[in-house]
Amino acid sequence: MNNKVERFKKSLNENNLDSAIVFKPENRRYLSGFTGTSGYVVITEEKNFFITDFRYVNQASKQCEGFEILKHTNDRTLYDILNELGLKNLGFEDAFVTVSQYNDFNDKLMGISLKPLRDTLDKLRMIKDQDEIEEIKKAAQIADEAFEYICEVIKPGITEWEVALEIENFMKKKGATGTSFDSIVASGIRSSMPHGVASHKVIENGDFVTLDFGCIYNGYCSDMTRTVVVGKASEKQKEIYNVVLEAQETALEAIKPGITGYEADKVARGIIEAKGFGEYFGHGLGHGVGLEVHESPRLSPLGKDILKANMVVTDEPGIYLPDFGGVRIEDLIVVTENGCERLSKSPKHLIEL
Ligand code: ZN
Ligand code: ZN
Repeated sequence: MNNKVERFKKSLNENNLDSAIVFKPENRRYLSGFTGTSGYVVITEEKNFFITDFRYVNQASKQCEGFEILKHTNDRTLYDILNELGLKNLGFEDAFVTVSQYNDFNDKLMGISLKPLRDTLDKLRMIKDQDEIEEIKKAAQIADEAFEYICEVIKPGITEWEVALEIENFMKKKGATGTSFDSIVASGIRSSMPHGVASHKVIENGDFVTLDFGCIYNGYCSDMTRTVVVGKASEKQKEIYNVVLEAQETALEAIKPGITGYEADKVARGIIEAKGFGEYFGHGLGHGVGLEVHESPRLSPLGKDILKANMVVTDEPGIYLPDFGGVRIEDLIVVTENGCERLSKSPKHLIEL
């Protein structure tokens, strides 16, 4: 039996829902295994349905174990099918469904009341199964290999854009289906922008280069950051780098089941503040990673979630000095029974290329 569906059913039950419709791609894949781009998972007390159109019936019947596949057509629409199923309280993804979809559901469903699922699926997805952790490990390993490779490629004269292309090309050759997000390659003063996506700037001697990237492997994402210096690092570059490194590694030691995202963030933030750089660390310490590159839980001053074993999160403090440059160091980690394990294994000492 599909454990993910069973856990979802249990939480529906706890929320007095007899059914749910799910079609946000990552949630749909999570529950059914379907990798296509169109279809609806409908979970009822008795049965699991996957409702799709002509294009995906065959694929769904192969991928969606434990689901009855139904085809919607112009003559028998999705709404007709839902109306036939005798549903009462139907959960829907209120953070994903558009207003016009919601209005259509409301107009065309008879005697079914729509109930928001809120963060039910986000909560379930926070804790990974072993098979999910294996996919994420593989995605992290490909990113690590890409970092080792790119250190050989970065030289004065190459553009950030060319570096990003090399990283992405390398990861795809190693089996990634895509990147987790637009790769960040931010050099020189641009490294003071936490999300400086690769530009046509030429990398020069003396530049900090922040590389933040990840890939998708069997649907699961990786995410890592390293900051290197081209040529010899200045004293100020070394100083900032070492503060970020200390914050990152101290947070790693603190992350274990039972602490909140807020507390984990505070460990790293406290170190950066004590060194006088608090105002230059303007983002949270980390985030959950899985089918989406940014998912629950949040490790930030607002992070209320309590960390638990088998959550996959990032630890990524940074310092960004306007008109100078910035450093971020990010590891992907999995929370274990009594601490955490790094999935990103690239070295973290200051690399001078
Ligand atoms: Zn990242
Ligand atoms: Zn990240």
